[in-house]
Amino acid sequence: MHTDPNCIFCKIAAGQIPARKVYEDDELIAFHDIAPWAPVHILIVPREHIGSMQEVTEAHQALLGKMMVLSTRLMRELGVTNGYRHVVNTGADGGQEVPHLHLHVMGGPRPWNKG
Ligand code: 5GP
Ligand code: ZN
Repeated sequence: MHTDPNCIFCKIAAGQIPARKVYEDDELIAFHDIAPWAPVHILIVPREHIGSMQEVTEAHQALLGKMMVLSTRLMRELGVTNGYRHVVNTGADGGQEVPHLHLHVMGGPRPWNKG
């Protein structure tokens, strides 16, 4: 599996940088965003260093589905019962800051998500 020793999310996945983890298995890791935009803001991240959605292929289809299904489970476990938002930023024009694919899942009481 490809990883990048200089990538912050690869370092979190490897346990080299601390994070408030809520889930991990052999393919995915999930943790609280360090600068949350919402009362509950988690990132679901593949362990493989995939730079962005621009690098995704059919080989990643099951992994991407697993990320979405995991979001349902984790938001339920975190007590987010009234809805939430998924965001994936891709590339410079997509506002992506960390160049390792990640799914933002944000929930909790409004009005944080009106924008
Ligand atoms: P992007 O703009 O790339 O979609 O979002 C990157 C997200 O990663 C941001 O929301 C940012 O707060 C979060 N982030 C960046 N560095 C770290 C870190 O070291 N730890 C955690 N938990 N989140 C981070
Ligand atoms: Zn990485």
